[in-house]
Amino acid sequence: MPYLIQNATVITMDPVSGSDPVRRDIRIVDDVIESIAPTLEPVAGDTVINGTDKLVIPGLVNAHTHSWEALYKGRYDNLPLELWMALCYPILGNSRVEPDLIALRSKLFAIESLKSGVTTLVDDVLENPDQDFEQLTAVFDAYDEVGVRANISGHIISKPFTDTLPFMDEYLPPAVAAQVRTLTVPTAAEYLALSRRAFETLDGRGDGRLRYMVAPSAPQRCGEDVLVGATALAKEFDAEFHIHVLETKTQLVTGTEKYGQSLVRYLSGIGALVRNTTFAHGIWLTPEDIEMVADAGASVSHNPISNMKLGSGIAPWRELLNAGVNLGLGTDGCSSSDSPRLLDVIKATALLHKVTEPDFTAWPTVGEVLHAATLGGARSAVREATIGSLEAGKQADLVIFDLETLAFTPRQKLDVQLVYSENGSSIETVMVAGRIVVDHGTITTIDEAAVRAELGERLVELRAWQDRLDAANSVFAAPFTQMYQRAMNTPSQIHRFSGHTHA
Ligand SMILES: [Zn+2]
Repeated sequence: MPYLIQNATVITMDPVSGSDPVRRDIRIVDDVIESIAPTLEPVAGDTVINGTDKLVIPGLVNAHTHSWEALYKGRYDNLPLELWMALCYPILGNSRVEPDLIALRSKLFAIESLKSGVTTLVDDVLENPDQDFEQLTAVFDAYDEVGVRANISGHIISKPFTDTLPFMDEYLPPAVAAQVRTLTVPTAAEYLALSRRAFETLDGRGDGRLRYMVAPSAPQRCGEDVLVGATALAKEFDAEFHIHVLETKTQLVTGTEKYGQSLVRYLSGIGALVRNTTFAHGIWLTPEDIEMVADAGASVSHNPISNMKLGSGIAPWRELLNAGVNLGLGTDGCSSSDSPRLLDVIKATALLHKVTEPDFTAWPTVGEVLHAATLGGARSAVREATIGSLEAGKQADLVIFDLETLAFTPRQKLDVQLVYSENGSSIETVMVAGRIVVDHGTITTIDEAAVRAELGERLVELRAWQDRLDAANSVFAAPFTQMYQRAMNTPSQIHRFSGHTHA
């Protein structure tokens, strides 16, 4: 049904007013914004939403996350990426996760995302030990039902995991190495066939709300055949090519040790750095790497909370922006940041880069941060033509905040309060493609209590499964710690930690 939001304060993110709050009426017909102007007259049949004392913003875009981790929230702390991954993405002892659990996990994650104002997920879905079409379909089905917008990946690690880390031949006990070698990994042909099938049958579901994207895990975790083939598919279907690049110093060292060059130069050299490429993290990019990313017109998804929790380092926010690199913001998964609330990431971004830079004129502005959380993420998701701002013709994805709340009292600069004062508790209504999916704080598309109850019933079994996997993978703790310490002590051209200057 058509909606008319009247008399609202709106952050449009359009080219004229940007992130400045302005007075607007918004008319929504079907899934699109039909018009947005200082005043609009209701048309017969319109459902009028009173925007007085409300702030309306474009739906937030979470430009990097993993719904797998929704079942791992709050499970681990104080582990760096490589040690954490050995538990959260187990190497040994995996068995196929059934589609019904994947559906439940996806619903849980989508509900929490929507209720916190995230209308688009870039969900790098990773299944262990491998992902099949039925599992992938379960995510599409769940997101279709809940009503979120998403890019959903096929994710691939096409090498034995211990081959993707430096110094393993020195530290990994031979018996463990032999055990890892018995595991099969997906081939490029299998992955590319799954991806083509997903593009041809799942991509575009929900009137285009749900898209398939290719996601080779990382340059060092995949063969060249995977990286080149996935890039070709991303070009053919004009889809996102999503990949983790230089998240940790260990990965910087991996480039030198295993490729004799930066991993970005390697990707560029094989033609896998293109406009539809989004790097998740991009912390340990050198100045030359940043130039290559900018020249390709590629994007970086910045995930400061996950990067702090895993001790990965601080991405060069200002250097990336100065070079002209498009930036999105991501929460990363619910194990490395323990929440899909992008508003937390927005605040962390605005704060973090102030303590790394004494020149206060280079600090992130509210406008830059909100751009990354909306249009920047949309551009990284290859959706900038349809989402990311409130403009006529774009999809009606928006969030309505109640301004009669403590976070917005007293009302000063609402854009600044949105970034620094609000945590999502003032969210009243969330709309995706013109459909109200959150109404007065309640999800309308699905029975949230039933989802939580079903998970509750499965929790004992779930935790026993996770405990077994933790035990099976504890063999990696000692060798990975040795590898990690050696990587930290390896001299590097760039420095991305706060505090101590390592070698
Ligand atoms: Zn990730």
